[in-house]
Amino acid sequence: MLSQVPTQDACLSCGACCAYFRVSFYWAEGLAMPKHYTEPVNAVYSCMTGTNQKSPRCIALKGEIGQQVSCGMYEARSSSCKEVQIADEQCNKARKAHNMIAFIQVESFESTNDDDFDQVS
Ligand code: SF4
Ligand code: SF4
Repeated sequence: MLSQVPTQDACLSCGACCAYFRVSFYWAEGLAMPKHYTEPVNAVYSCMTGTNQKSPRCIALKGEIGQQVSCGMYEARSSSCKEVQIADEQCNKARKAHNMIAFIQVESFESTNDDDFDQVS
């Protein structure tokens, strides 16, 4: 299977996850969004308009998928939007559905025992 290491700004030329899943969240999160950006799913959940249909595409997604995209409400995006991370399972599922190459998850090399080191000033 083909795969590649993602760059930090990989989302800017992708957008697949904004046009693949139903992006739903607890209804109260939608209060911070423009009213027409959300649709009710049931009594407890709402979703981004355009994502609860056969060919989903979030109303807030601007641009062309796989070329250049942006989120029209990035700062106010839902917790569900924030959950998807570059190269995770959801990301790669969406990318494959849009005929894009999956990403390899690269381990972060953050130290877990920084407490044992003193700052040299
Ligand atoms: S599918 Fe992955 S790379 Fe594409 S926009 Fe979503 S998180 Fe970013
Ligand atoms: S609100 Fe933004 S990040 Fe969330 S699905 Fe829509 S375009 Fe994507």
